[in-house]
Amino acid sequence: MQFASAEAEQKYATLAAQLAEAVIAFDFDGTVSPIVEDPTQAHIHPDAADVLIELAPKVKALAVVTGRPARQVLALGGLEEVADRLAASGTELLVHGQYGNEHWTSSHRAIIGPRPPVGLATFLRELPKLLRDHGASEAYVEEKGLAVAVHTRRVSDPQATFERLLEPMRAAAEAHDLTVEPGKQVIEVRAPGMDKGLVIDRLVDTLGAKAILFAGDDLGDIEAFEALDAWAAEGLVTLKVCSLSPSDAGESALQSLADVVVDGPEGVIALFRSLAHASS
Ligand SMILES: [Mg+2]
Repeated sequence: MQFASAEAEQKYATLAAQLAEAVIAFDFDGTVSPIVEDPTQAHIHPDAADVLIELAPKVKALAVVTGRPARQVLALGGLEEVADRLAASGTELLVHGQYGNEHWTSSHRAIIGPRPPVGLATFLRELPKLLRDHGASEAYVEEKGLAVAVHTRRVSDPQATFERLLEPMRAAAEAHDLTVEPGKQVIEVRAPGMDKGLVIDRLVDTLGAKAILFAGDDLGDIEAFEALDAWAAEGLVTLKVCSLSPSDAGESALQSLADVVVDGPEGVIALFRSLAHASS
């Protein structure tokens, strides 16, 4: 792991010393699971379960904060099984799916979420024409229930297609009171009013955390980083972790904002492991 500064390294040490008061929150794709061609195959890092079980009794809570539907990360993360193994530790694993619109806890095991936003059905009906008009008919449309994601990763010219689509999709989304969330070769359209930063605020408030770590890899994680900055100003111990994957080609939107940059999911797992060991 690479610390941004001596101060950042000190933040890590302080967090390790106050781990019992800390929430360990993390994104899923690109952070604990690799970015792969087929998003349905983005299984969690094979060591993640063991490391989370090891870390759990030493922290206040573990929380997945993701744009994916909670149901998908429960499956791809094997998180029901992690929850079974966690039960004895007394620590909860929380899943905040669809940018916090859905939540699940290891003690209740039910996904709680709102109804889809009103404009989404109309947006979806208009989407095929929008894609055709911008030469993006082959883009993969993923209906997520509360949102829709247009993936350009598998089209012949992923980045150019992404750039062609972003503004027209933003305009169409706004016309239906929806918002866009751009990511790595994916543009998601969803209800406004929720983001990962608000999830962080909710976690800190409801759990009474005195320290919080957040690990992420993409644009949608910036609000979470900003929330950590705001909590740091309030005196909380915070640590912003950027997961940099080989597919990022050495660049991530989060890199310059992070306290520590690690080597993809492998590096995130290693950091969690080192925290678990630092406190024992
Ligand atoms: Mg991600």
